[in-house]
Amino acid sequence: LSETLEKALADALGPRAVTTEREAFAVNTRDWRGRYKGEARCMVQPTDTTSVSKAIRICAAHSAQVVPQGGNTGVCGGAIPDRTGKQVILNLARLNKVRSFDPIGNIATVEAGCILAEVRRRADEIDRIFPLDLGSEGSCQIGGNVASNAGGTGVLRYGNMRDLVLGLEVVLPDGRIWNGLRGLRKDNAGYDLKQLFIGSEGTLGVITAAAIKLFPKPRASATGFVALPSNQAALELFLRLRSVCGARLTAAELMSKRQLAAVCQHIDRAKSPIRTAAPWYLLAELNDTDPSADLRRMLESVLGKALEDGLVADGAVAASSREADAFWHLRHSVSEANVRSGRVVSHDTSVPIASVPQFIERAQSELSAAFRDDYALHFVGHMGDGNVHVVAIFPSTHNDSDLACAAATANTVVHDIAVSLGGSIAAEHGIGQSLRDQLLRYKDTVELDLMRGLKTWLDPAGMMNPGKVVLPNGGPRLT
Ligand SMILES: Cc1cc2nc3c(=O)[nH]c(=O)nc-3n(C[C@H](O)[C@H](O)[C@H](O)COP(=O)(O)OP(=O)(O)OC[C@H]3O[C@@H](n4cnc5c(N)ncnc54)[C@H](O)[C@@H]3O)c2cc1C
Repeated sequence: LSETLEKALADALGPRAVTTEREAFAVNTRDWRGRYKGEARCMVQPTDTTSVSKAIRICAAHSAQVVPQGGNTGVCGGAIPDRTGKQVILNLARLNKVRSFDPIGNIATVEAGCILAEVRRRADEIDRIFPLDLGSEGSCQIGGNVASNAGGTGVLRYGNMRDLVLGLEVVLPDGRIWNGLRGLRKDNAGYDLKQLFIGSEGTLGVITAAAIKLFPKPRASATGFVALPSNQAALELFLRLRSVCGARLTAAELMSKRQLAAVCQHIDRAKSPIRTAAPWYLLAELNDTDPSADLRRMLESVLGKALEDGLVADGAVAASSREADAFWHLRHSVSEANVRSGRVVSHDTSVPIASVPQFIERAQSELSAAFRDDYALHFVGHMGDGNVHVVAIFPSTHNDSDLACAAATANTVVHDIAVSLGGSIAAEHGIGQSLRDQLLRYKDTVELDLMRGLKTWLDPAGMMNPGKVVLPNGGPRLT
């Protein structure tokens, strides 16, 4: 029977929907950072929800495991098949229609394969914004954003993807289609099932469409880039901005000196707007829907007072939207700059906001004790979310096994610190395959049991993205 899987898929979905030549989908079997490489027997690209359902039923009948894949921009190997060459990649790129825009309800209903940047552009056309803001917006897809519960730079004001989803359409592992695409702001009629699939990383079903929240377009904005003497000063400046500017504060992005230097070294058109060298930098943005709001003055007033009080060493407020874009270019280029700097071991931890300085200090001192000079340490993150990425960059000469060894040590150091401060080992990127075993070290056994129970209930055959997030029967417990 298994020999006929590809034929059954091609018969049901059309020959163009199934790619069997491995070279033709080689790029879909590895991640963009080059950390994960798998094999797959074929790649399927359905163009509508019914075809996704058919594909899932056929794969189930052939006992073939399915790896859902969006834009393949994820950073924890969630969309990459294993090395057996037996799994099927279900790529959602062609399921990419915008079904509707509702400017009264402020809702867009879009299919999973819609590219984030395109959804944002379409929202802009009707004078709205979709506020999910990621450096990967040109490639990542709404389905991938939902499945990974993406965060990004707008979380402070608008929340993460979980906060932006009103309804979902999902193909379940048995092939049934659940139409939960209700665009209701209030709906307490039973369990909130969409929450199960948001952040499930392809392990519970295939998200085929989402009803997402739009917001009024800001008409006034101000963006500042400031140099800070310490990370404690960054926290204090953030608290001042939050208390003075309230909901107008839409971003507070932290960057260490070495991180900024790496961006300026490796990225075209990246230049710090500040001459003064400082250990820390914060990019802050204010937005308001009222065009007459004088946000520039508000920002300058908070920064001016902070300068007098010694919290800020130097700063620049963008004089034009072009200048603001140049500030954001520095922030959005971080991932690319880091990849060009060497071999990256990145962490996606969150801690309570008040503990950010302590977290950074401890990570700095414990990692330098573990690695001495054989690495560079960058910090970048979303100050207002307590989500600081600790990025250890090892020399390009490190081979895969050197890197795996270094990653194991760095992960344990950083995750232990985050968890000891009441934090999480996975703030916004998810678990995928990279943190699956780490999860066993840090999650409470009751929580793990509930997760395994949900997985087994929805996907008893274990066909959806196996080996990612949680293993139904446990797996190695790290000590
Ligand atoms: C330059 C850059 C910057 C980034 N910045 C951020 C950031 O600031 N914040 C952040 O949170 N992330 C960030 N990311 C990570 C990544 O872009 C996001 O996680 C994004 O949401 C992934 O979307 P994707 O379509 O590429 O999903 P993929 O990488 O294809 O998949 C991610 C996971 O979702 C599953 N999946 C994908 N589509 C579906 C579907 N339709 N149904 C079910 N499961 C599915 C996959 O199996 C996989 O487990 C960044 C990545 C890059 C390259």
